[in-house]
Amino acid sequence: MPINETEAQPYHWLVDMLESVEVGLVVLDLEFRVQVWNGFMENHSGITASKIHNRVLFELFPDIPKAWLTRKVDAVALLNTRAFTSWEQRPYLFRFRNTRPITGTEDYMYQNLTISPLSGSSGQVEKVCLMVYDVTDIASGKRALERANEQLARLSMTDRLTGLLNRGTWENLVGAEFERYRRYGQTTSLVMFDIDFFKKVNDNYGHLTGDEVIKHTAATAKSNLRQSDSIGRYGGEEFGVILPETDAEGSRIICERIRESIENSVVQTPIAPIRYTVSIGIAQLDGTAKSYTKWMQQADEALYSAKNAGRNCVVVYK
Ligand code: GH3
Ligand code: MG
Ligand code: MG
Repeated sequence: MPINETEAQPYHWLVDMLESVEVGLVVLDLEFRVQVWNGFMENHSGITASKIHNRVLFELFPDIPKAWLTRKVDAVALLNTRAFTSWEQRPYLFRFRNTRPITGTEDYMYQNLTISPLSGSSGQVEKVCLMVYDVTDIASGKRALERANEQLARLSMTDRLTGLLNRGTWENLVGAEFERYRRYGQTTSLVMFDIDFFKKVNDNYGHLTGDEVIKHTAATAKSNLRQSDSIGRYGGEEFGVILPETDAEGSRIICERIRESIENSVVQTPIAPIRYTVSIGIAQLDGTAKSYTKWMQQADEALYSAKNAGRNCVVVYK
């Protein structure tokens, strides 16, 4: 049908708008040959509409998940209904570089995608339109929030100075390990240790230096433990360790290693190099402890014996 000059004008505007809108518009026939490719798609892909016209989409974009998109498009054509995918299900369909300066933390453009059926004059669906929305700002905001929440959860479980588990979290684990023993009777040991004459460190060099020594103790102990061991800061300069699948003798070897590394190391502080020692108590779980608090008391008693025995030593609870 011929269209005269005045009637054609609004169509030109419409086409201009589709060309410049900040949404990707792609029309595909049912063989996935590209029929429309607007300015947004040209700008972000670097491929011009004239180059891609009538080409099969997958040939130019081998990264696109072909099976997935084919299934989606087939369903849209068959049911004559729209389909929608959010960035949370699939971060993007077209791998475009993120060009936004404010959300520079993301490498790729996150996209929401809508697929709409386009019917011919017979009413049959002949083509589909993909609408690609850039949702990088929303996605990176949400991801930043998730990261912040993870960090908060981690912070509320850990001790600020040392990064070890805090007392509450660690005690919960001791309780859980005790319950596991009650049920399955596996071998397990508990360790409590305390810095010797720590008051003197504080008195002679100040609290900040004391804090450095506490951090050094935490790091040294941790570096001598396995991934499956749980170490917590129980009090000011007191620490606790759960050693799963470890008997008293095995624990003694690990604890001797910690004791020795501390005895042999020097903490370099701005005020002075500091040498110090720790005393360690061990309690392997047996039938005598009827609660996890009793188990902790046994380890604490062994620690007390280590202090009485002259400090800088390891004692196993009997
Ligand atoms: P002992 O060999 O018997 O353990 O002697 P000690 O001097 O270490 O005695 P104790 O374990 O009772 O000392 C604990 C001291 O630790 C008292 C307290 O002022 C100090 N302290 C507790 N928490 C902190 C902390 O977070 N930082 C610093 N710098 N000092 C702390
Ligand atoms: Mg002490
Ligand atoms: Mg103490």
